[in-house]
Amino acid sequence: MSDDCIFCKIINRELDADIVYEDEHSIAFKDINPVAPVHILVAPKKHIPTLQDMDKEDEPLIGHLHGVINEVARAFKLDTKGYRVVINCGSDAGQIVFHLHLHLLGGRPLLQNLAQGRGA
Ligand code: 5GP
Ligand code: ZN
Repeated sequence: MSDDCIFCKIINRELDADIVYEDEHSIAFKDINPVAPVHILVAPKKHIPTLQDMDKEDEPLIGHLHGVINEVARAFKLDTKGYRVVINCGSDAGQIVFHLHLHLLGGRPLLQNLAQGRGA
């Protein structure tokens, strides 16, 4: 828990969010400024600022977050047509909330293929 972290505040119910999934270690909620018909953020309850701040012991947790993506994607019917998962790490990636989170994006064709360096 970090006192000035908005995602910690969502986890602790000090800030409202449209929560779509929760378990002991993670939470998933709708992005306040969606860039796709489905735009959900999946975050660990543990306050880890960026992917680069994770410890070796966090590896199972990071794996678990992907399991949550799988489940939420199915719940939002993205499993047949597909979806994109994004982690922004640090300033060059445009990270604005420094509590690790995965973006789950889908519900329309995502034309830019970031891995081929065309997207921004
Ligand atoms: P990133 O840090 O990976 O760039 O993205 C942070 C994401 O969090 C953004 O897509 C932004 O719209 C979303 N966001 C920022 N503040 C809030 C908030 O208070 N509630 C919710 N639900 N999403 C937020
Ligand atoms: Zn936090």
